[in-house]
Amino acid sequence: MSVETKKYTNGEVTVVWKPKVCTHSTMCWKGLIQVFNPKERPWIKMDGATTERTIEQVKKCPSGALSYYMNDEMNKESTTREPV
Ligand code: SF4
Repeated sequence: MSVETKKYTNGEVTVVWKPKVCTHSTMCWKGLIQVFNPKERPWIKMDGATTERTIEQVKKCPSGALSYYMNDEMNKESTTREPV
């Protein structure tokens, strides 16, 4: 069974959030309320901080509900993939 994921991007990095994995530890919004604000919709605002700062906070998520990937790397992967 696939886990539901939600994605938020600023064009440079994409933050992936798995609501069912989130333990609501509050780490993310206590650490970076400018980006992670559960009282607002969308609750993750990618223009609230720099890419570096957002990634730093994503890495602190204790449950693994938050993860990220660089958009550039995804593009590179899809353009350099050998034809099957
Ligand atoms: S830090 Fe992770 S587990 Fe905690 S509220 Fe944020 S997303 Fe959920």
